[in-house]
Amino acid sequence: MPQHPEARSTLPPVRIRSIVAAPLFGESPKGGWSAEIRPEDSIHALIAVHTDAGITGYGSVFTDGRLVQAGLQVLEPLFRGENALQPERVTEKLHQNTFWMGRGGTLTHTISGIDIALWDILGKATGLSVGTLLGGRYIDKVRPYCSLLMEMPERMHDVVAPYKARGFKAFKIGWGPFGRTNDPGLDRAIIAATREALGKDVQLFVDPGASDAHWPQGLKWALRTAEMLADYQVGWFEEALKPDAIDDFCTLRRASPVPIAGGEVLTRRQAFQPWLARGAFDIVQPDVTKVGGISEQRRIVWMAQDFGVRYVGHGWNTALGVAADLQMATAFPNVDLVEFIGGSPYVDGILREPFALDADGLLDIPDRPGLGVELDPEGVARYTPDARPLFAA
Ligand SMILES: [Mg+2]
Repeated sequence: MPQHPEARSTLPPVRIRSIVAAPLFGESPKGGWSAEIRPEDSIHALIAVHTDAGITGYGSVFTDGRLVQAGLQVLEPLFRGENALQPERVTEKLHQNTFWMGRGGTLTHTISGIDIALWDILGKATGLSVGTLLGGRYIDKVRPYCSLLMEMPERMHDVVAPYKARGFKAFKIGWGPFGRTNDPGLDRAIIAATREALGKDVQLFVDPGASDAHWPQGLKWALRTAEMLADYQVGWFEEALKPDAIDDFCTLRRASPVPIAGGEVLTRRQAFQPWLARGAFDIVQPDVTKVGGISEQRRIVWMAQDFGVRYVGHGWNTALGVAADLQMATAFPNVDLVEFIGGSPYVDGILREPFALDADGLLDIPDRPGLGVELDPEGVARYTPDARPLFAA
């Protein structure tokens, strides 16, 4: 009996030929960390997955690019020759066979970039956007919130003004002196100055950055500060406690008048499970360039939705991370924001068609094949010693 035509495989395998990473150097935006990023430090990397079909997929990883290069060497025997059209199966194979080598760290980060690139390839091979492949598009546009570092109060007007002029309608300020001086008056003055500079109609979020080294504050500070933030209509309070303090996060969430956000440093879906099940967050912020990629983040976001926790992506590290976040934003109900770091050349300077806000301060979510963005080889070449392997199949 002849096989039904629809039962045939319509796409022959597209085999992975090689995977390369390019560490980005030189113009990493200031991070606000105690050990501040230097020009010679690499904390962002681009990944290219080359295939035997001439299709190349691109991804992004938020960690030292040299670690990503080492991770690729370890993973190479597992991905070489694999079918690039099967992102979830291939990356789960990488996770399952390497979990004993420090799961959640460099290898998970590296797999994140590979996974994003495989979804890009699947989209390019099928002519569908990643959002469509994930099951459908809920929205065509989303609001980027502009992330900026905190400075002393008298400087906050100048910090936000250029980005307000560019059309951003939502902001997050973080790190810097906030919470680091034992001066509640200073903390309040920073927020008050920022709210005044933004006006009452602009959304404002606050991130003290308690995942920085040796964060000095604890639960009592966080509880007091949450009350203060409510006076300035702050939309969420992010990373207000050390990243392992799950009990205190649960207590803070129950007491705080302001929604509690976190999760950017967690990796792997299994690590999110107790935080969501125990009610540690109102808003969860997984980073698609660290958690394991789109395949992993998809499961984290559905888990969050089932626990009634809002999802806001943290994949801002490069334009490819933002592109992945945009596709994730449209693939789930009720996503209204993505993070967008202000003033990063790795976001603004590496695409042929850079992201641009519309009159309402929104970004289009591309409905083109794959991630729907195209790297500009000349732009990328400004930030990495040798960009050619990314573009040479
Ligand atoms: Mg943060």
